[in-house]
Amino acid sequence: TPHNPMLQFDNYIGGQMVPPIGGNYLAVYQPATGEQYAQAARSDERDIAAAVIAAQAAQVQWANTHANTRARLLLRIADLIEEKLTQLAAAETRDSGKPLWLSAEVEIPRAAANFRFFATALLHTATETHYTEGTNALNYTLRRPLGVVTCISPWNLPLYLFTWKIAPALATGNCVIAKPSEITPHTAYLLGEIATEAGLPPGVLNIIHGYGHEAGKAAVCHPAVKAISFTGSTRAGRDIAATAAPMFKKMSLELGGKNPNIIFADCDFEAMLDTTMRSSFNNQGQICLCGSRILVERSLYDRFLTEFVARTQALSVGDPLLPTTRQGAVVSEAHQQKILDCIALAQAEGGTIICGGYPIQPEGELRGGWYVAPTIITGLPPNCRTNQEEIFGPVVTVAPFDTDDEALQIANSTEYGLSATIWTSHLQRAHRLADQLQCGIVWVNCWLLRDLRTPFGGVKNSGVGREGGLEAMRFFTEPKNVCLQL
Ligand code: NAD
Repeated sequence: TPHNPMLQFDNYIGGQMVPPIGGNYLAVYQPATGEQYAQAARSDERDIAAAVIAAQAAQVQWANTHANTRARLLLRIADLIEEKLTQLAAAETRDSGKPLWLSAEVEIPRAAANFRFFATALLHTATETHYTEGTNALNYTLRRPLGVVTCISPWNLPLYLFTWKIAPALATGNCVIAKPSEITPHTAYLLGEIATEAGLPPGVLNIIHGYGHEAGKAAVCHPAVKAISFTGSTRAGRDIAATAAPMFKKMSLELGGKNPNIIFADCDFEAMLDTTMRSSFNNQGQICLCGSRILVERSLYDRFLTEFVARTQALSVGDPLLPTTRQGAVVSEAHQQKILDCIALAQAEGGTIICGGYPIQPEGELRGGWYVAPTIITGLPPNCRTNQEEIFGPVVTVAPFDTDDEALQIANSTEYGLSATIWTSHLQRAHRLADQLQCGIVWVNCWLLRDLRTPFGGVKNSGVGREGGLEAMRFFTEPKNVCLQL
């Protein structure tokens, strides 16, 4: 409400909260009401330079800190995230518009889990040795931290994805320049306070707020930064690759998606429908793994559409603080407009809006908030823009198919390749399609079941590199082979 004081999110550099050198701030909004409630540092290359100096000063000591000590510090951060779960979940929901139950039950616990996972992983890693017969040589691999690395994350799962990068970077002994999305900086700011409280040495983690083309770009360009771990749009990923590739920086890019959800008539219908509701509309459809192209075997098509529409019309959209709310606000006014533009395009392309398709304006305090009714569109061919371009909102298309090969061909027909879901009880079909789908992640009879040890990432325009488990531990270290003739 207007009576609350405006919050301010300064940068976290060298263990201190410091204002941006240029003195500029950007506005931070509360999507549920559409009101500004905070301002965040609008940093530029001077702030990045200061953060890099702090990180470099801490780097050697952090890299040589005993693994047990690093693990203990990261576990302490995980504990503090759990202790402050109520505060962090409230901040996440205020900043992003997502339902409070989603922040409290899924996203903040996952941020703690990220730290705990990589804190313990670092105690169990080993490196390879290769003994060469004949020449009687012993090769062994050293894996040392890269030095100073940049982690850049998006707004859709703010603390969850921020920590998914920061935790492995710190675990492997790097010092980090981390930039959260300018749209959702709140929990990243609180993570700085937590790092200090946990006793993380100053400079090991630096959190810089600001726009992508200013602070983000500076954190990519800085010559002392050895690697960039980025999650966000394909557009920004391309820009980062163009900047960082000629500087020979290591890159991990987790980008957009347009994921197929392939439903066969022989599936467990109830389980499929429950999960398809979530894979379509969870977090207002703003998850890179959402299945936005639903392909249904023709014999099941009518039944599926009838029941899916009925369930979708019954979804309660509105106040993120109510436990009964299934769908909160979308993240910004600009994003709401983008989603509505995509729906208008679908109509112009000949699509039929079966349900939703319009903004929702709640009564009272929330009337200025940014809500979109969950939307189902039919009647569009696979090659139209609606079925090719990422929308990243509560909007799905549904289309029938006749054969496995047709489903596969449609599924693979976009420039993206992040994930796919298959619903069938036919074992061979599931394995065959899983093998032939062009993507990095396949779910069979489930969706978004995560084991943090598995490789996570996409192919084609959905990115390069993998996160998760050993993949992340390897990304944030440089292997060096030592060959010794015995
Ligand atoms: P975005 O690309 O606009 O921004 C992501 C981050 O990059 C922000 O912190 C932003 O400030 C920064 N940034 C933007 N341009 C930059 C540049 N030129 N140089 C350096 N930094 C820059 O993405 P968004 O709108 O915040 O997030 C939504 C997108 O993220 C969707 O496309 C979604 O699919 C994708 N995403 C992918 C995954 C995955 O794991 N593959 C996960 C979540 C979201």
